[in-house]
Amino acid sequence: MTKGLLITVSGASGTGKGAVCDRLRATTPTLTYSISATTRAPRGAEVDGREYFFFDRSEFEDRIARGEFLEYADVYGNYYGTLRSYVDRQRDAGRDVLLEIDIQGALKVKAACPEAILIFLLPPSLEELTRRIVGRGTESEESLARRLASAPTEIDVGRRYDYVVVNDAVETAVERIKAIITAERCRVERNAQLFDTFKK
Ligand code: 5GP
Repeated sequence: MTKGLLITVSGASGTGKGAVCDRLRATTPTLTYSISATTRAPRGAEVDGREYFFFDRSEFEDRIARGEFLEYADVYGNYYGTLRSYVDRQRDAGRDVLLEIDIQGALKVKAACPEAILIFLLPPSLEELTRRIVGRGTESEESLARRLASAPTEIDVGRRYDYVVVNDAVETAVERIKAIITAERCRVERNAQLFDTFKK
């Protein structure tokens, strides 16, 4: 059986990654979403083992020491990490796994798994990004200023990814991601077994 693909989707804050991944999830039943672990508290109706595995700091740090994470990062003062065992089990069963993780986390995945496919979501323009972050109305004045100031630097990291997708409209961005996944599945090196069936 062919091992499943490992795909990451990342983008600067305000790019609309959440909406794009939710739509992708709703329309692509063949993709498996990795459930990350975090030390942040559950929000609203979040359930342990569904949105995240919620660990306290000492449990998370024990698991880091045991090498259980494919990657982990400190995002806004809390740990977030991808559990290696979960991803490996899914891929070994032939299922494509999608990770919705922060920008630096995706680069760590690439370092650990060079075959990973890194997709970077871009807002249509800096003006549109500013409009989206301000429009959300959820940020304090200080956090807003911090996010807007760090956006150009965050976005530049995308040059190191494999694919860039502009999120001008959620539907269009989702179609582009599906096209990337389809093309990656068709790569010759992932389909050696097809050729084998034609050998005399
Ligand atoms: P939230 O607390 O809003 O659910 O997520 C905050 C940030 O952490 C988002 O940018 C999200 O993509 C990122 N994140 C979630 N899971 C992981 C993970 O397993 N690893 C890394 N590096 N980032 C993650």
